[in-house]
Amino acid sequence: MRFETCISVIVAASIFGMFSITDYHLLGTTREYYLLVAMRFVVVSLCFLLAFVIVRWGSYTRHAWLHALPLWILATGIILIVPLRPESLSSQVTAAVVATMAFYLLIPNLLTVVTLASLYLSIGFLTSAVLFADIDSVATLRIALLLIMANIVGFFALWRLEGLQRKQFVLLHEERDQNRQLLKEIAHRKALEEQLRMVAERDALTGLNTRGHFMKRAQGLLQRSQHEKVPFSLFMIDVDHFKSINDTWGHSHGDWVLSKIAEVCAQALRPTDVIGRFGGEEFVVALPNTSAEDAQIVAERLKKRVAELPLKEGMSERRLSVTIGVAVAHTETADLESLIKRADQTLYVGKRDGRNRVVMCRERMEEE
Ligand code: GH3
Ligand code: MG
Ligand code: MG
Repeated sequence: MRFETCISVIVAASIFGMFSITDYHLLGTTREYYLLVAMRFVVVSLCFLLAFVIVRWGSYTRHAWLHALPLWILATGIILIVPLRPESLSSQVTAAVVATMAFYLLIPNLLTVVTLASLYLSIGFLTSAVLFADIDSVATLRIALLLIMANIVGFFALWRLEGLQRKQFVLLHEERDQNRQLLKEIAHRKALEEQLRMVAERDALTGLNTRGHFMKRAQGLLQRSQHEKVPFSLFMIDVDHFKSINDTWGHSHGDWVLSKIAEVCAQALRPTDVIGRFGGEEFVVALPNTSAEDAQIVAERLKKRVAELPLKEGMSERRLSVTIGVAVAHTETADLESLIKRADQTLYVGKRDGRNRVVMCRERMEEE
């Protein structure tokens, strides 16, 4: 807006200044001519100065009046031509009419200020014409009607333009509001999706992977291990005599024990291992790139850590223990389901044999 006003003012002032050529043709090097040139020079200089001020500081929202100020200067210049060049009044009337229309179109959104400046030009010009150009009443009426017409046309053109701009502004705001609403809605939906994902993927009590999510991740790891031809191990972990913890200290203590065991498991394993809560007090771990020997070492370490777990006050007489069944995928065709089944069967061998132990699945080795 600043830039546009600046350009308009410079163009308008330059045109006003260039009329000094016609002044010369009309007046020659007379006193009136020099006065006219001096007056045009002052007007053009002031307009240029204002153009500079507007482009630097003329914020349209805070200093809108600054944008209308050149109109008053140009209007004064046009009015002052009449006493200095009264014999060329007819061409000046045309200039005044064009200027009036230009005023309305030059500065948008300032209807009141622009109307006042245009009325100042019209009334000032007419008064000047009556006082200095010695015109009769018919000519006065003709000029007055022309100026009134210019004002009416200019006023309504700008008025309509302002109305349309307001409507456009309202529509723009509505659109922005709707966009904001939409963005809010999208953020809300994303949060809901995230919540849903959390519910589906994370076990609420232990924070471990849910069974379904574990299966998905472990499947990926198994396939990758088979593709890379590296061993893949799987643990099935079951807390020993967990029911008696619930029965003795209540479910809240049972829950606490489960979350502690989950913590220990997560800490004892590598970040690449995936651990899930398989159900109740059973956990399942997928260990990519882990041979049977390594798996046994890890499982023993895990068992030891669980046994060392400090328990809550009042539970001191109780030692925690887990039984771990380990199955290792040896062939490229081994699938996750059968691996889990093997680990589960191995786990129950451990339970049968007295619990608190790591049992390796021998099935495959026997086959081999
Ligand atoms: P075992 O050594 O043979 O594994 O005996 P156990 O008592 O651990 O096994 P059992 O299957 O008899 O009992 C498991 C118990 O775990 C039964 C169930 O009430 C309890 N349980 C399952 N899920 C939860 C849970 O989320 N919180 C609590 N506090 N207890 C649970
Ligand atoms: Mg169980
Ligand atoms: Mg158990």
